[in-house]
Amino acid sequence: MKGVESQVDFSGGEFTVFGGMTSMNHEQVVYCYDRETGLKAIIAIHNTILGPALGGTRMWAYEKESDALTDVLRLSRGMTYKAAVSGLNLGGGKAVIIGDASKDKTDALMRKFGAFVDRLGGAYITAEDVGMHTRDMDIVRSVTPHVTGVSESLGGSGNPSPVTAYGVYHGMKAAAKFKWGSDDLNGRKVLVQGIGAVGETLVKHLTEEGAKVIITDISNQRIEEVSGRYGAQPLGSGNPYSADVDIYAPCALGATLNDETIAQLKCAVVAGAANNQLKDEVKHGEALMQRGIIYAPDFLINAGGLISVYSEIVKYSREETLRKTADIYGHTLEILSQADVNRITPHQAAIESARARIEQARTTQNTLN
Ligand code: NAD
Repeated sequence: MKGVESQVDFSGGEFTVFGGMTSMNHEQVVYCYDRETGLKAIIAIHNTILGPALGGTRMWAYEKESDALTDVLRLSRGMTYKAAVSGLNLGGGKAVIIGDASKDKTDALMRKFGAFVDRLGGAYITAEDVGMHTRDMDIVRSVTPHVTGVSESLGGSGNPSPVTAYGVYHGMKAAAKFKWGSDDLNGRKVLVQGIGAVGETLVKHLTEEGAKVIITDISNQRIEEVSGRYGAQPLGSGNPYSADVDIYAPCALGATLNDETIAQLKCAVVAGAANNQLKDEVKHGEALMQRGIIYAPDFLINAGGLISVYSEIVKYSREETLRKTADIYGHTLEILSQADVNRITPHQAAIESARARIEQARTTQNTLN
């Protein structure tokens, strides 16, 4: 049906470009290649009804090209819903650069990437994601104005990751309130998986509140640093999914909630920063619900970074950024209640809320045209 997304099956099929675009209803997908710098990037614009498509750039050594395509299509779609559910006048987009950020990222490659972003004339606005830092956005800024998350010295809002963590922390507290009737995390056992830019600040907020924080990461160096700084306990070689904790906070990569892991979970709440945590958003959302595990939708509670970079476009202050980010607490409680009343998953309730806002904007635009 025109304009309506069909059920998206993420369960293992490989996408063709138009297959993926059709099933998720994307507007535009751009492939970028440059022989000199070795740049291979894909930019996906999912939806621009509410505004320009804003979303970060992820640099990752994807095993297969189709993995990069799948990732960018899913991530950009998530950005549409994230902006819509957060009340921002932005569409959804995302970019992926294929490569190992620690080895393949050069200033020349970032400049070339910026030039490709520039060609889109503002339909896509980039920012940081995994493998990207504020400095990289500063380089992109030297060739295009269509970038956010640049340094404060260049008029930007700086690193969005601490704001993302602040929002995840509020979303987690709301989920705790919904589950246990109290949002006090003092004494709660929380497993943070992935202690990078966002995970570390989340650990900081949690330990400050007196939570018992357990950390896991594929980088031993990060584990040493973060356990040293905040007194968080390393999980060691234990299985993160069967860890005996109250809350599981996925803050690494997506799809960690799947057939294999959900059956093992001992936690009562899942609330973390990673995008696309549910491998299959319908099936695995329902599997969590059936197990009585409260799932705080990822794109709802990790919107702090987007709220932060959006301030560069609409020019609101840092205080306003933090106030809007703290509102994630109320939004999360609202979505969890709606899901409960309508007997749908929290993920579905959040998507419905986002879609309602986009539909309203589409109707208004059609009326005005
Ligand atoms: P990051 O690259 O700084 O940190 C990711 C961390 O996860 C790294 O320390 C890495 O070693 C670790 N990791 C990777 N694979 C792992 C695994 N299998 N098990 C355990 N640890 C693993 O990234 P980030 O900016 O902190 O983002 C984390 C997640 O949050 C990503 O999914 C990102 O898309 C999402 N997110 C980030 C922001 C933001 O503002 N940075 C905003 C919204 C969503």
